[in-house]
Amino acid sequence: MKQSVCIVVPAYNEQDGLQLFYERVRSVIDNIEGCAFEILFVNDGSYDGTLEIMRRLQVNDARVSYVDLSRNFGKEAAMLAGLDHAEADAVIIMDADLQNPPELIPEFVKYWQQGYKDVYGKRKSRADESFLKRLGTKVYYFLLTRLAHVPVQVNVGDFRLLDSKCVAALKQMRETQRYTKGMFSWIGYSKKEVLFEVAPRAAGTTKWNYAKLFNLAI
Ligand code: UDP
Ligand code: MG
Repeated sequence: MKQSVCIVVPAYNEQDGLQLFYERVRSVIDNIEGCAFEILFVNDGSYDGTLEIMRRLQVNDARVSYVDLSRNFGKEAAMLAGLDHAEADAVIIMDADLQNPPELIPEFVKYWQQGYKDVYGKRKSRADESFLKRLGTKVYYFLLTRLAHVPVQVNVGDFRLLDSKCVAALKQMRETQRYTKGMFSWIGYSKKEVLFEVAPRAAGTTKWNYAKLFNLAI
């Protein structure tokens, strides 16, 4: 039997980039043999045309499905909703704006097939960000790596492949004030790093501001 991989995509007001996202992902997964892929969108209370696009994609491609949240809960909760509904041997978490290059998927899958349980993307550089944001990130990771009781991966986000064992562990943690990045470290399991360059947003604008980032940091 083929191994199954579910790509979980939290999306909040991503109408302008979602079709392109789907096409880029499809062209990658269509060329990976030996795995059956699904794409599970999580509509996080969008008020633009995001849900309509998800519906259309789902009608035209049996591998596509979506979860529609009743309001905007934030990316952390949207990711958990995705993990709750994914039924696959592995899950890949990806942003909807193509900042996480789909072309990394074959490498993620390769390391997973070698036995790694958590294959995560690590940003090569933050040169694209403002001085203030880079400074904030430095201070944040300085404090976090000293305060945390488990090893913390620096400059690593949610873009990753998780074996179903990791997914099961994360699903047991039901807190609503989620810090998913920390949870990935906390659950353990064998980890493998893949370096990548963050791409500019395909369309639309960031949903994060300094206030939200500060809240997440706290
Ligand atoms: N997102 C979400 N709910 C939110 C905010 C963001 O599902 O309340 C999604 C968003 O649509 C994107 C991903 O989370 O797919 C990352 O968000 P964004 O690109 O705005 O963050 P940045 O890349 O600027 O850190
Ligand atoms: Mg983004």
